[in-house]
Amino acid sequence: MSGQNRFEGYLKEELVQVERELENVKNELALEKSIVKWFDIINGTGADHGSVNCALCKNEQSVHICGNCVVKKRVNHYGCNETPYKDWIIHHEKKHNNLNGGGNGRKIICGECTVLAVRELNFLEGLRSDLVLEAKSSVKRRESYFKSCDFHDSI
Ligand SMILES: [Zn+2]
Repeated sequence: MSGQNRFEGYLKEELVQVERELENVKNELALEKSIVKWFDIINGTGADHGSVNCALCKNEQSVHICGNCVVKKRVNHYGCNETPYKDWIIHHEKKHNNLNGGGNGRKIICGECTVLAVRELNFLEGLRSDLVLEAKSSVKRRESYFKSCDFHDSI
């Protein structure tokens, strides 16, 4: 391979890595926004409007795809299935007759609401470590690729 091609290959790979890292940063930011949302709900100053006010959902091209969402990656299910969020939804449907969040969204109404909201908050906070691991592996990939490129003396 010529030095030129090698350099182009390197640039392409570098671009892929940068895009991955950007994705990580976007996911981190969305997760932090989501955590703030649940702090507000527990605090009584916020409400849950489902995907409408979920930064993680907004990060995706479609709320039905969940693509790179850190929640989906952790539980390997779409739509927050198999997460504490589903329990929160079911509780609001059954106990508070709130099927779709209504106009005001889902808020803390009873003691169990608080327990479930805290569980969701803890769950989201637990996902921070996944993103840190992802970021670290991304840096490692980049380093190992960089080491494998000895084009420096060939261009
Ligand atoms: Zn309740």
